[in-house]
Amino acid sequence: MRRDEMVRRVRERAEAHIPWDIAVIGGGATGVGVAVDAAARGLDVVLVEAHDFGKGTSSRSTKLVHGGVRYLEQGNIPLVMSALKERGLMRQNAPHLVHDLAFVVPNYSWWEAPFYGIGLKLYDLLAGKYGFGASKLLSKEETLQRLPGLEPEGLTGGVVYFDGQFDDARLLIHLVMTAADLGGTLVNYCPATGLLKDPDGYVTGLTAQDAETGETLTIQSRVVVNATGVFTDAVRQMADPDAEQLMVTSQGIHLVFDRSFLKGDTALMVPRTSDGRVLFVIPWHGHAVAGTTDTPVDAPSLEPKPLDEEIEFVLETAGRYLSRPPTRADVLAVYVGLRPLVKGDGKTSALSRDHVIHVDTSGLLTITGGKWTTYRHMAEDCVDHAITLGRLADVECSTRNLRIHGYRLDTAAQGSEEDHLAVYGSDADAIRELAREPSLAQRLNPELPYIAAEVVWGARAEMARRLEDVLARHTRALFLNARAAMAMAEPAARLLAGELGRDEAWAAAQVSEFCSLARQYRVS
Ligand SMILES: Cc1cc2nc3c(=O)[nH]c(=O)nc-3n(C[C@H](O)[C@H](O)[C@H](O)COP(=O)(O)OP(=O)(O)OC[C@H]3O[C@@H](n4cnc5c(N)ncnc54)[C@H](O)[C@@H]3O)c2cc1C
Repeated sequence: MRRDEMVRRVRERAEAHIPWDIAVIGGGATGVGVAVDAAARGLDVVLVEAHDFGKGTSSRSTKLVHGGVRYLEQGNIPLVMSALKERGLMRQNAPHLVHDLAFVVPNYSWWEAPFYGIGLKLYDLLAGKYGFGASKLLSKEETLQRLPGLEPEGLTGGVVYFDGQFDDARLLIHLVMTAADLGGTLVNYCPATGLLKDPDGYVTGLTAQDAETGETLTIQSRVVVNATGVFTDAVRQMADPDAEQLMVTSQGIHLVFDRSFLKGDTALMVPRTSDGRVLFVIPWHGHAVAGTTDTPVDAPSLEPKPLDEEIEFVLETAGRYLSRPPTRADVLAVYVGLRPLVKGDGKTSALSRDHVIHVDTSGLLTITGGKWTTYRHMAEDCVDHAITLGRLADVECSTRNLRIHGYRLDTAAQGSEEDHLAVYGSDADAIRELAREPSLAQRLNPELPYIAAEVVWGARAEMARRLEDVLARHTRALFLNARAAMAMAEPAARLLAGELGRDEAWAAAQVSEFCSLARQYRVS
């Protein structure tokens, strides 16, 4: 994938006055999912993303591929069933990035084992042929065997069940590559700046700005899809400044600790926190990730900040269950994501976790809500609507069995700490080849496994354009250990500048920009 080639295609198409079938605004899981689906059906699709692919919510999740045990408790059986099916398809189509994970619900009261045991049996049942393994009750000893870091005082036993886990930003990058492999055109650092309309006020395309050159790009399209997550209403207001607000936003934080806080390969699931939510502590890339919260937010932003009370809440709740309670000083990174929630008839209590497709009177097609796990199903639904709306060739969806870029069965152990390159799937071979050059085999920092070859690969093959892209999403350094990520900024920036033909001043500016961002990911 080359960005200049993508921009050239957009420019040439505009000069030839040939409209695209579908133009997507937004390069998160929702928009990129739509691009993959459309390209797989043979439609001409272009996608523009304002920043880096996955800069928004899609790199900031809890990293679960799941049906959502919480929605089961709320009685939303269709949502759970659909998500459980998608969970199975995700593991089938991207085994290099999605793997099974055992979760233990620890029991400290006599009634918890039968209560959660029955609920989780129902969860197994709803998964049907897409099941990941049968849940079962555990004795106190078995519970501690699976979760040696658990507080033993008062523990009566536990319930183990199985769900999926993934690397969200890596999957997103591989979805971008899948769409590109299928002929799609995707441009990062290219915000949509306005919508084109015909004399009847019907949306016929968009304008976007190449943020690297300042060039205005004109994109004529039969259908325009708005997949901008928490920014949905801002794009809808480009079509109609009076458009009523469709979205509300809430934020969720995660704290990342050293793996020693959660020994073993099993995740901890706290089914009911003091604010009535669930809290997870999960093993991820050699660390322990704890979250999340649900705090209403007035206005969406690209880099939401954690509130002190959210940090205290996660520390306190996780600390109640872990034999060594973590403190602020133990937090290696904090990251924050914004949930795109669809208002239910104006009542905030009726916020939907399902996805929503909305067509404005201008013909702008908006898709939002849902969750990462259901991105494929959301995309199928969206492209079906786009075909009707734009009178496009009526081709059936083919993503159910579509292998995602990098597909490789023998690296199914994505969580494996021995081989951190497993997340690249079949591309790992090319990175190892690059690393035959000794300087590219060097680790960028002793605290994290990332090597110099990954920066080169990110720039050459994955359209990484900035230091932040490489350290936050192409590798997950910033999300795992903010201080270590800052320490690797200089060597990584030098490598990136060399690949992108930039000078030393550019590299120095990248380091300073990245370090000021990374400070927000530190707690102490
Ligand atoms: C804390 C938290 C934890 C979660 N955990 C899970 C989980 O474990 N499992 C799960 O399945 N789901 C989870 N989710 C839900 C899931 O992460 C989201 O549903 C999903 O990532 C939303 O993707 P999106 O593409 O709609 O939004 P985003 O990823 O935010 O993408 C929207 C994109 O649009 C771009 N954009 C905005 N304006 C413009 C413009 N004018 N021009 C071009 N581009 C623009 C933005 O830059 C952004 O990249 C979680 C959500 C949160 C908040």
